[in-house]
Amino acid sequence: MRVLYATSEAAPLIKTGGLADVSGALPAALREIGLDCRILIPGYPVVIEKLQATTTVAEFSNLFFNDATGISARLLECRMPGSDTPLYVIDAPEAFTRIGGPYQDANGVDYPDNAQRFSLLSQVAARLASPDSPLDWRPDVLHCNDWQTGLAPAYLRLAGCLTPTVMTVHNLAYQGIFPPDMLSRLNLPASCFGVEGVEYYGNLSFLKAGLYYANHITTVSPTYAEEIQHPQLGMGMQGLLASRRHQLSGILNGIDTGDWNPSSDLHLPCEYHVRAPSGKKRCKRKLQEELGLEAQADAPLFGMIARMAHQKGMDLVLAVADGIVDRGGQIALLGTGDKSIEAAVRELVARHPGKVAALIGYDEGLSHRIEAGSDIFLMPSLFEPCGLNQMYSLRYGSVPIVHATGGLRDTVEDEVTGFVFHEPTPHALWLAVERAFDLYSQKPAWKKMMAAGMNRDFSWEKSALTYQALYQSLLSTTG
Ligand code: ADP
Repeated sequence: MRVLYATSEAAPLIKTGGLADVSGALPAALREIGLDCRILIPGYPVVIEKLQATTTVAEFSNLFFNDATGISARLLECRMPGSDTPLYVIDAPEAFTRIGGPYQDANGVDYPDNAQRFSLLSQVAARLASPDSPLDWRPDVLHCNDWQTGLAPAYLRLAGCLTPTVMTVHNLAYQGIFPPDMLSRLNLPASCFGVEGVEYYGNLSFLKAGLYYANHITTVSPTYAEEIQHPQLGMGMQGLLASRRHQLSGILNGIDTGDWNPSSDLHLPCEYHVRAPSGKKRCKRKLQEELGLEAQADAPLFGMIARMAHQKGMDLVLAVADGIVDRGGQIALLGTGDKSIEAAVRELVARHPGKVAALIGYDEGLSHRIEAGSDIFLMPSLFEPCGLNQMYSLRYGSVPIVHATGGLRDTVEDEVTGFVFHEPTPHALWLAVERAFDLYSQKPAWKKMMAAGMNRDFSWEKSALTYQALYQSLLSTTG
């Protein structure tokens, strides 16, 4: 079975969040079980510079980009670095050569032409999945991810092509919303601008397009698939999602167990394992040293790695942080994002030198060392489609404290592998923190909980088999 996996980011080429981890790992896991899955990604400069042995396999001359003229693009083919997954890269400098990230400039401002840029990605994805593809290789299924590829199912359907499409929602909060006058500039007919189409409260939404036109919708955990059908977490899409509930399923993400393995992780000062856990103590001491925390072996160290966004429950953490320090704990934070949250974190660090440390920025190596060096991991997200860090934490013996939402609820078992609280309030988080402090002081019970988490299996194989079954069911119903 051939699958084209269209995505706007994929680790290790380009990453802003969990989508990149999934895009880096799932296609490889699908290939492991025998599918011919290939990735399609935009050629941002950081992507192009990491590619090796590329060949140009197609040229597109008339893609829609702005009013006046079509844009041309080359399609490059190569392999994902460090794996054998085939990769198609859209080389279109006018769209993708920018100083800054994939979506925003260096000041964190969205590029003004993001609609055109990601329409381009969607146009190429649709073209490759259609009978007039310039490639010999045609996918049986087109798998789209998040709003950046949401127009692809629309382009395909509107062109009358029946190739089955899957739209995966990694986070419903990002919807790709643009003014309605974009419609004609993106080669979308006025007839699709309605409730039954791409319209979303008077605007055009790329994500809505994907949710409406795709044959099947998935999201990244069973609980989130249920939650998004209701107003509280449906972000305005709940009506559509509930109406499509028979074509909506939640498939839990896996984690890359090669990259995230405490017994072979090159980012760590030493290795450890569930049957030989003593190296974790050294990882903790080294982390304290690295971050300027006091070298206290017995102080429970709370780690947190997150985009500093309201979604991640940083407000809750800030509300309980003084209490954690008062009870003898330490905190190590890593993240970047919302400037007001970053400022509040800096104030917290200034109040508790040697007890609270934060690195405001993005640091892959440190994220591994925090997972290894902390005793407890904080993940009080207000909502969380799947979440990866709680799974990394379980694997690294850093006991997670999580809010019972989305994938957090599906991966952490209260009092067995971690602590789960139900109301997203400082008080409820604090009660969970107190439970963690209490258990931490009972060493055998603590070790048992750590081991229970470290023994959980979050490898991609199970998810890959579920996606395979889904693709097969789509092929049998559409074809
Ligand atoms: P989201 O996709 O909402 O950001 P996830 O938990 O699904 O959240 O995935 C986040 C990924 O990004 C994880 O791999 C996490 O370790 C990583 N990450 C987030 N912020 C940072 C940071 N500041 N430095 C390093 N890695 C980070």
